[in-house]
Amino acid sequence: MSALSARRVPTPGASEKPLKIKVFRQERRDLDVREKGRAIQGNESTHGGSSQDGTVDDPNRALRPYPAASRPRRIEIRRGGSESPPPRATIAATVTLSTSFELVARPADLARAIVRWRGAPVLAIDTEFVRERTFFPRLGLIQVGDGTLATLIDPVAVGDLSPLSEVLDAPGTLKVIHSASQDLEIFFRALGRFPQPILDTQEAAALAGVGAGLGFGRLVSERLGVELAKGETRTDWMARPLTEAQLTYAAADVVYLLPLYESLRAELEAQGRWEWALEDSAALLEATFDEDPEEAYRRIKGAGRFERRGLAAVHALAAWREREARRRDLPRNMVLKEELLLELAKRLPKEPAELGKIPGAHPGLIARDGERWLAILREVAALPESALPPLVERKKPAPAVDALEEKLRQHVRQRAAEIGLAPEVLASRRPLTALSRSVESAEPPHLPRELLGWRQAVIGEELLALARAARS
Ligand SMILES: [Zn+2]
Repeated sequence: MSALSARRVPTPGASEKPLKIKVFRQERRDLDVREKGRAIQGNESTHGGSSQDGTVDDPNRALRPYPAASRPRRIEIRRGGSESPPPRATIAATVTLSTSFELVARPADLARAIVRWRGAPVLAIDTEFVRERTFFPRLGLIQVGDGTLATLIDPVAVGDLSPLSEVLDAPGTLKVIHSASQDLEIFFRALGRFPQPILDTQEAAALAGVGAGLGFGRLVSERLGVELAKGETRTDWMARPLTEAQLTYAAADVVYLLPLYESLRAELEAQGRWEWALEDSAALLEATFDEDPEEAYRRIKGAGRFERRGLAAVHALAAWREREARRRDLPRNMVLKEELLLELAKRLPKEPAELGKIPGAHPGLIARDGERWLAILREVAALPESALPPLVERKKPAPAVDALEEKLRQHVRQRAAEIGLAPEVLASRRPLTALSRSVESAEPPHLPRELLGWRQAVIGEELLALARAARS
């Protein structure tokens, strides 16, 4: 672990003053909005009544102080120890943490928040969802922090989230997200788009040499010296009303995300690596979430053990399972467990009586899907040899390939140590394997896409040179 430490330094003079707790009033914000000439029509200027869906509309519920972060604090991040490879600046970032959060449950309130976010250079974004028993995640909450106010959007109550697209698309607003992939899927499913540009603080921390794959709580503790409450991670975000504890927890995620971002950004800029973090974050947007069902068998471990007809059965069952999981909105394993899928492919049963003998094939499951499985397996049994898929590659690589891969890895380890990065952050395994295989190929080696961008100059060209040398 790095020698980073964070300590809180009270703002001079702050201790004598009473805590300043900002409480925003919706009435005030309505006024502000009208003053800007963007009058928003509707009944939202009356408070204390009931909203259209019959939920109690308590104005004091919508906006309240955020007690854990009510004091402006100066957070100094310093770097200790002399073993750190490159010289790094001592960074003192002054951060003022947000003091309030608001709960947005009506379209008009969402519209107002969106107006407020126009032109914001940075927004912190997080989502809370549930997906234990469904294929598609159920979106429970969207949190947006602008550095002043944490806005908690209740997607169930608001309904139409499409106005948020403006925020997600705004090219001048950097969307800061921690460990973004799941949130990206949420936005893809809810709005058919990704937020961009984005900055993933997990990627940023890895490139700053703080550590790879660190969780949010750990990073906040390490960089900001703040211990976040645990215990709401396994909560039901679809329950209504959300509890005070849930809302506070959800707000904290975006309240602390901005100072974390600022601290990491300052360090990355001092290291000349800020662009690296933007590049690696943008690469996350290449993710696809609508996998081709015909490719689903690739994610099944153990498919490589099968001969060709068994493999055809794995392929067909996995494709069926993928389609059914989406259609029934059930997790893949609640449609057909992987072990049972592999058993079916191994035994290739033809008659209903055979199904009952297969471990894991419960009567309820057989009643639900048994006929379907048998129909699929009969089709597989009828396939001519020529229509069977080729065997999954199991050939052991040639010694020259292994030798080159080891050499490349060693080079990555050495360079990573020199520049203070984790080796897997500098170069993941896949491009190294791909590059080392080129030693056997007729084609001259080329840089795998993972080694393009900033990595090309830092490590890619060197690895390519080693691969070229290994061929001659
Ligand atoms: Zn969260």
